[in-house]
Formats: sequence, C-alpha cells, structure tokens
Amino acid sequence: MLKKLIQTLRRKRPHAPPRSTPAVLNARQHNLARDRISRNAVNVVERLQKAGYQAYAVGGCVRDLMLDFDPKDFDIATSATPEQVRAEFRNARIIGRRFKLVHVHFGREIIEVATFRANHPEIDDEDNPQQSSRHESGRILRDNVYGSLEDDAQRRDFTINALYYDPVTERILDYAHGVPDIRNRQIRLIGDPTQRYQEDPVRMLRAVRFAAKLDFDLERHTAEPIQRLAPLLRDIPSARLFDEVLKLFLSGYAEHTFELLLQYDLFAPLFPAAGAALRQQPDYAGKLIRQALINTDDRIEQGKPVTPAFLFAALLWPALPARVLRLQEQGMPPIPAMQEAAHSLIVEQCQRTAVPKRFTIPIREIWDMQERLPRRQGKRADLLLENPRFRAGYDFLLLRESAGEQTDGLGDWWTDYQEVSDSERRQMIRDLSSKEKEDSSGAPRKRRRGGNRRRRGPRSDGSAPSGE
Ligand code: ATP
Ligand code: MG
Repeated sequence: MLKKLIQTLRRKRPHAPPRSTPAVLNARQHNLARDRISRNAVNVVERLQKAGYQAYAVGGCVRDLMLDFDPKDFDIATSATPEQVRAEFRNARIIGRRFKLVHVHFGREIIEVATFRANHPEIDDEDNPQQSSRHESGRILRDNVYGSLEDDAQRRDFTINALYYDPVTERILDYAHGVPDIRNRQIRLIGDPTQRYQEDPVRMLRAVRFAAKLDFDLERHTAEPIQRLAPLLRDIPSARLFDEVLKLFLSGYAEHTFELLLQYDLFAPLFPAAGAALRQQPDYAGKLIRQALINTDDRIEQGKPVTPAFLFAALLWPALPARVLRLQEQGMPPIPAMQEAAHSLIVEQCQRTAVPKRFTIPIREIWDMQERLPRRQGKRADLLLENPRFRAGYDFLLLRESAGEQTDGLGDWWTDYQEVSDSERRQMIRDLSSKEKEDSSGAPRKRRRGGNRRRRGPRSDGSAPSGE
C-alpha cells in the first residue's frame, strides 16, 4: 500500500500543484521512533494540543530522525500565535524582530516554537507601509504573515524539510512529497526553483549543505539554476553569510560541501580572493584548502574543538602571497607588505562574510606565527612554545607542508622539539646555529634575498616575506 502511495506521489512530480491534503503516514508506515524526539519537545506539543492548537515537530529534526541522524535541535510549528504560546508556558520568551518566535526554556535545552506562516506576502508590512515586502530582485525581506499548516509547508525550502510529525498520534503529514524524496535521497525545492532562489539566495547554500550532510543528490530542476543565480549571494547581508559559512564548514561534512560549492560556482561568491587563488594555483590552493577541511571534519568526528579562525586562516592563506608581491612591487618593504596584505585580505573577506573580531585577531596571529616559527635561535624557540597561539601556528605549518610548501623540515623540527628533553632541546638549538654558520660561510644553501623577485607558487619560508 505504501509502495502504491509513493508511486502516485512520484508520478505527480516535479510540477505537481501543491497538495491541499497531505499524505499521512501512520506509525507503521515510517521509521521515526517517538522516543528519539526530545521529551521537552513532546511536552510542548502535548501542551499546545491540549490548549486546542495544532502543534507538530517539523523541519530538520523530522528529516534527520527519518535518516537516523541525531537532530541538532527540535523545532515546533503551531497554529498558536507567539503571544498564545507564551501564555501557555512559564519558561517561554518571544524573540526575533523579522518574525517572532518563541523560545521555551528547559534548563539548557531550548525548544523553538514558530507560528505557521505563509510565503509570498504580497501585502505590505504593517510597520512599514511604504515598503513592499519584496526587493526588486524578488528577494523576500519580511515574511511574518501567519498562515495555515498547509501554507507553512509550502513556504519551507525543500520537500524533505517540510514534514510534520505529531508525537501524540505518531503520524507524519507530508504536503510536499518529502517522504518519497527522503527515500530516493533527493534535495528538491518546493515550488519554482528560480523563484525560490531569487526570494532567498541562501537556499542555494542550504541545498548543497544538505546534499553533503545527507549524501543526497540535488534533483535536476533544483540544481539547474544555481550556477546562473550564484552571484545573487553578493546581496545577502554579510552577517548572515558568516553564519551560513560556519554551518557549511563546521558541521562535519566540510570537504564534501566544498566540492559541491565548487561544482555549483558557489565558493567564489563567498570567498572571492580564495576563489581567485584556486583559479591561479589550483593544485596548491586546492590541496591546502581540502586538507584544512579534511582535518576539520576529522576533529569534529573525534569530538575535538574546531575554531572558525583556523578555518578562515586556511581558506585565505593561498591568496596572501600574490598580494604581498603586488605591494612589494609597488615598493613596500617585505614586513609592512605582509601586514598590509593580511589586513586588506581580511577586511575584504569581512565584506562578504562578517567575521567577528574575536576570530580575525587569531587569524592574524596564526599567520604571524608562520613568520616566527622559522626563527628559533637563542630563547626564541622556548618563547614560541609558550605562546598561546603556538599550537594553532604549528598545526598550520603542518597544513602548509601537507599542501607541498617547502619549509626545509621545519614541521619535523618542531615536532621533535616538543617531544625531546631539555638538554636535547639545547642541542637542537646549537645544531641550528652551526647549520646557520655553514650556510653563511658560502655553502650553496639557499638564502633568498632581493624582495622583488617574482615567485612562482607558494613561498617556502613561512608564507610571506619575513624580512629576516
Ligand atoms: P539543520 O538545523 O540541521 O541545519 P534545519 O532543516 O533544521 O537543518 P534550520 O535552519 O534549523 O534548518 O531551519 C528549520 C526549518 O525552517 C527548515 O527545515 C526549513 O523547513 C525552514 N527553513 C529554514 N531556512 C529556510 C529558508 N531560507 N527558506 C525556507 N525555509 C527555510
Ligand atoms: Mg534546525
């Protein structure tokens, strides 16, 4: 019977008109176990239903549970207005300006409750009667119009994100053919793809993020307009794009996500300088960025912390040498050129993705470390070891080496130095001085001088001209 249902649903797509009656799956027809829904979320639903409202778990949590992922959080959709929701709970707070939501607090867990909303509001906003709710590009600026359950399903982005689960009856309501898409592993936009991307270009990023995380394909019509519309991302506020970038790269599927971003021309609009570096030096920049993302995914898998600073330091690093060189060619000495290039690169990146100061400062520190790690004489090595940024700087050095940068064994040297005894450390520093003497006594070791020499490929001695 279920097979028949799926076949009927499949035949109707992709241009089927929105369903006004949902497909209903009872407990025997789906694999979503009620006991995997947060107890608090179930309580919220029960309470709202008892008060006479409709209430369902919705979105990512339903999708993830059907696919046996652990949901990040549990969202509830309801017919109650935010004020009505708040009246039902002591521990509830209304938040949000663009549209109001209610956060119901249970200790550390927050259950987000949203009132059913409708899409495509053609009417003007109450607070702003002069302004239409659509930007001329078709982008929706305000969508705080309440609607029915069915409206709420249609305004969601992908079919797999528009499933409603009632933990009381254990039924799933599917207005948008989401269940068959989950079973066929398809990311499919609800409605006309071009229009839905124009309304909110971030949906293009969400499409590849879910495809990478769930290992789904983008359905043909959902994929088709992306390359053409990718430049629309430039109009999205940089703070929102920063948040999205973190979700893209810090969710444990960064490497796969990166490949999809490249495939759909979505990477360069987010990271223009890194995009250019990838075109100019595809092997080196590609290796460095991919390795950084693989390391990030590994760390997340192992439950280790990851920082946006390291990630951004890596994404922007391949763009740095060309900038330093350009400034040096204009006559700037190496150290100021490096500082200026780093500064301008970060400022430009912030125009696309607003990286907060608490991350831009450590990005600079990780880069500065690359200039300091080669200078180990005297007490310098020990001082560096004590530097709070040492670990990140050292990891970054290893990353550069893994991308093929020649550092004359610097990474191994530092690995050894951390592991050996005090007396062996002193010996390592002495060895360094004698090697240095040999070098300056005319032995044919490289010691590059002359700032304006054009380099091909990445620098080998610490990223950027260090002025040593
Ligand atoms: P996750 O939280 O795992 O990243 P999610 O699907 O829960 O995935 P959220 O950003 O938490 O994503 O959004 C919750 C739900 O809100 C989505 O499942 C989707 O139904 C809807 N939604 C979110 N962003 C958009 C958007 N830009 N356009 C339309 N609907 C959206
Ligand atoms: Mg979510």
